Amino acid sequence: MQSTVNDMLSKTQYYLELEEQYGAHNYHPIPVVLSRGEGVFVWDVDNKRYYDFLSGYSAVNHGHLHPKILKTFIEQSQRLTLTSRAFHSDALGEYAKFITAFFSYEKVLPMNTGVEAVETAIKLCRKWAYEIKGIPSNKAIIVVCEGNFHGRTTGVISFSNDSLATKNFGPYLPGFTIIPYNDEEALKKALEDKNVAGFLVEPIQGEAGVVVPAEGYLAKAKKRCKEANVLFIADEIQTGLCRTGRMLACDHENVRPDILILGKALGGGMLPVSAVLADDEIMLTLKPGEHGSTYGGNPLACKTAITALQVLKDERLGENASEMGEALRKGLKDLGSRHISVIRGKGLLNAIIIRHSNKDAAWQLCLQLKENGLLAKPTHGDKIRFAPPLTITRDQIMDCVDIIGKSLSCLD
Ligand code: PLP
Repeated sequence: MQSTVNDMLSKTQYYLELEEQYGAHNYHPIPVVLSRGEGVFVWDVDNKRYYDFLSGYSAVNHGHLHPKILKTFIEQSQRLTLTSRAFHSDALGEYAKFITAFFSYEKVLPMNTGVEAVETAIKLCRKWAYEIKGIPSNKAIIVVCEGNFHGRTTGVISFSNDSLATKNFGPYLPGFTIIPYNDEEALKKALEDKNVAGFLVEPIQGEAGVVVPAEGYLAKAKKRCKEANVLFIADEIQTGLCRTGRMLACDHENVRPDILILGKALGGGMLPVSAVLADDEIMLTLKPGEHGSTYGGNPLACKTAITALQVLKDERLGENASEMGEALRKGLKDLGSRHISVIRGKGLLNAIIIRHSNKDAAWQLCLQLKENGLLAKPTHGDKIRFAPPLTITRDQIMDCVDIIGKSLSCLD
């Protein structure tokens, strides 16, 4: 028995050390080494099974290796994977038709990672500002929110107020005004500046620790933007694609963004696929050569994304996220743990806040959760996100609540 334990330790240790020695140290992962996934589960190199309660930061909404998405992915990868946009493919047009109809927009611009789509939306908003709205050259402002997370490029971190994301990466890109999140009055005031072109917002702030704004905030913000002729730009990279119980988090308030940004689960957990959707008045301000990406809109991404979107609808993953999210929050509440000060979220995008004298308590709890077969990761010190794949069942949710309850005792 003892030798099995030693083997387990050494195998994991081997891979941890490889990454430590040869990889950049820009992450601080939970010390588990995964080698397989299926549905809501992942397995480590020693075949220990875990519930995946992060879902690749919501990129794996469909669960690992969803059979239909995998089938599409394999079939297309054996036909044609990349053309670049120098040529047309028989996948891009069909994908563009499919996704624009799916979300009711006139045009789509395909990219790869989430942050590229955010950059695209910023460029698009500025183009529209100068060429349609008539803002004087180089004066366009985009209003953003405190606590935002939109990715890691130098442009996007320029309007982050998280010192970890910004320190020693300057000089920063100008043209952004930061206002408090969930504050309609602050938005109203910011919109008084005639040079404001857009308001970029996460419908729920994911990385900040699943901060859910007051009901009605998004609808009121959209109304204010419309009155001020300012584009309402929703970053639904983490909140979209059924994660919060509706196809888009904006759907909870019947808000239609002027520019919609999608990513993560659009690639079905298989490859990076992101998209920016808008109507012609905005999208057609971009002309050939003004923006692009070698891999953006590649045939493999197009086909995979179509199936990923179709599966969300066919398997009613929004409804399941809504029901399982309620079950999870109720289960957590019923635990009555003194170590949890807040339980919040929508659908299956949830977080708890740990109350403890030890500032590393959330990390300690995640290590204990790992021991007990559930993987989650703290964000901003004391918060832990609980975001399993949207295919999770009620029995599995209850099993996870038991694991969390049992693990919390490590903080006693
Ligand atoms: N926007 C939001 C709201 C996100 O949550 C993320 C990633 O976590 C991004 C943008 C960046 O996406 P990516 O890491 O694919 O660049």
